[in-house]
Amino acid sequence: MDCLFCGIIEKRVPSTPVYEDERLYAFRDTNPQAPVHILVIPKKHVPTTNHLGEEDAELIGKLVLKARDLASEEGIAEKGYRLVMNCNEWAGQTVFHVHLHLLSGRAMGWPPG
Ligand code: 5GP
Ligand code: ZN
Repeated sequence: MDCLFCGIIEKRVPSTPVYEDERLYAFRDTNPQAPVHILVIPKKHVPTTNHLGEEDAELIGKLVLKARDLASEEGIAEKGYRLVMNCNEWAGQTVFHVHLHLLSGRAMGWPPG
């Protein structure tokens, strides 16, 4: 399977790690859209949120809680941050391995573009 983020998890592709455990990996985005831009991903390959099953509920919960913890560690919890999961064409998903963007370090507009 040719998946960029699986390659990052397996360390075949270099990345700047922020956190790792048995089920999750977090690393810096190489094209940051804000001063803090971290990607939190499950080690399990799931292409899009459309492919998530009931059995993934705890995993996705852990993903969000880890992003919350990383926001605190990055010192952005109080000012705030945005968590984004893009799905498919209209959302602009480019890597088809589920990932949660943790964005902060500047004020962000709403609605998103
Ligand atoms: P998407 O557009 O699919 O929601 O987000 C994919 C993200 O992966 C983008 O923000 C993009 O900058 C990031 N990205 C793409 N290739 C690489 C890479 O090789 N390394 C890292 N660290 N991030 C990447
Ligand atoms: Zn993958």
